[in-house]
Amino acid sequence: MDYYSSHISKLIEEFSKLPGIGAKSAGRLAFHILSMSNEQVDALTNAISSAKKNVRYCKDCFTLTDEEYCPICRSQKRDHKTIMVVENTRDLAAYEKTGKYSGVYHVLHGAISPMLGIGPNDIKLKELMERLRGDVDEVIISTNSSLEGETTAVYISKLIKPTGIRVSRIASGVPVGGDLEYVDSVTLLKALEGRVEM
Ligand code: ZN
Repeated sequence: MDYYSSHISKLIEEFSKLPGIGAKSAGRLAFHILSMSNEQVDALTNAISSAKKNVRYCKDCFTLTDEEYCPICRSQKRDHKTIMVVENTRDLAAYEKTGKYSGVYHVLHGAISPMLGIGPNDIKLKELMERLRGDVDEVIISTNSSLEGETTAVYISKLIKPTGIRVSRIASGVPVGGDLEYVDSVTLLKALEGRVEM
């Protein structure tokens, strides 16, 4: 890409590091940025840096939030004795969109994957076990139905079993390997209602 200015090349290089952005899209984005007004570019860069600066993990459930505790953990209307374990904040959002789940969440930020070298210590599992020392009735494991999601579910259930807390797994019906966030609300609710004890 030496035929571009080094600034453009750098911009394209940075865009192509983003997930789902190939060389072609990276180039398109870079040239689009250059065609934008200074104000528009400032608004974009400010949005990126202020999101990065201000968004943090909720101290209870580890979802991404602007405050110390997320609105779900702060809510008195939620059932704090039922914890749904999800892989990421997008999965949490998918369940929230159904409007039918009244418990709280725990966001792992990943799943165990021996192939990718991601172990139990690389996700927010210790933090989950810490929470279970409190007053908890049930843990609903809603990791994806991918190999990693299933591995994680089995691993977590084995950890929790000795505590005597009920552990359940959302029912199949969620397409295998399908990311939870792309599954429609009806399917998600069915999976939740049909959960089975592990
Ligand atoms: Zn929270």
